[in-house]
Amino acid sequence: MPELPEVETIVRGLRGRLMGRTIRSVNVRTPAVIRGVGPRLLMRRLRGACVEGVERRGKYILLRLDNRVDVIIHLRMTGQLLFGADDWDRAADALTSALRATGDSPDKRRGDKSRIDRSASLPSRSPLVRDPYVRVVFHFDDGLRLLFRDVRRLGEIRLVADGDWGAVPGLRRLGPEPVGRGLSAERLARSFARRRAAVKSVLMDQRVVAGIGNIYASEILHAAGIDPRRPSAGLRRDEVERILRATRATLRRAIRRLGTTFRDFRGPEGAVGGYKPRVYGRAGEACPACRQEIRRVTIAGRSTYMCPRCQT
Ligand SMILES: [Zn+2]
Repeated sequence: MPELPEVETIVRGLRGRLMGRTIRSVNVRTPAVIRGVGPRLLMRRLRGACVEGVERRGKYILLRLDNRVDVIIHLRMTGQLLFGADDWDRAADALTSALRATGDSPDKRRGDKSRIDRSASLPSRSPLVRDPYVRVVFHFDDGLRLLFRDVRRLGEIRLVADGDWGAVPGLRRLGPEPVGRGLSAERLARSFARRRAAVKSVLMDQRVVAGIGNIYASEILHAAGIDPRRPSAGLRRDEVERILRATRATLRRAIRRLGTTFRDFRGPEGAVGGYKPRVYGRAGEACPACRQEIRRVTIAGRSTYMCPRCQT
């Protein structure tokens, strides 16, 4: 799932291309991803609106339009936002011919798959209009298209009027932003003191801090030298401060490197992220700090990676 650095990377990429652009039309292929409003009304509300701002709040992406409507997007597990140009169909045809030429004909594979996943072989920056996982296509002026692609279909697109973000439950309850001035050690210590759960789970609670998920929770607690299984209520004040410093440093470094590509993450231009996790997904490898073997433990049903020597 994209976390704060990945969503920030997406938002910066969208901002660069969408500011001042007008939405010509919206094509909803999978109505289930549109929440709280019918797809027809969504299409009508967005047509002709101009993008005035692109912002991030936690893991939410907010497109502010000049008609006082905001589009709120959450990518959940596998959602992606990708730009495409007008030549996708041509790219698809070229790929099909190339597959035929190499003998790996899509026709041969028709037996096991009703739909051909040609996108797998295409460069990631040229997603296909005919890709079955493209749920919504936003058409902008000058032929620019923005695709909402989501394999598992858990992502969400909502409309909010007059900046009333509180109408979205997840946004209403969202805690402070960890990068920047939003989160103080005082506030984090208070939130930790109120909860009995493992500190790793509490860090991932969006009501406590916005934007941290399973990957960065492991990374942050390794950087802070804190055992992720410890109850958050038992942490000393200096330990809370270490966690806050590690949170900011880890997330800022990941933003600078354009996020982590663990499975599906792509920036809107199709690029993969350059952040390499230090412990996440590295069970059995040497801890980058002390060379002790990294262990995988399960906390609240989620895989967690830690160094048993550095993290106490
Ligand atoms: Zn270590």
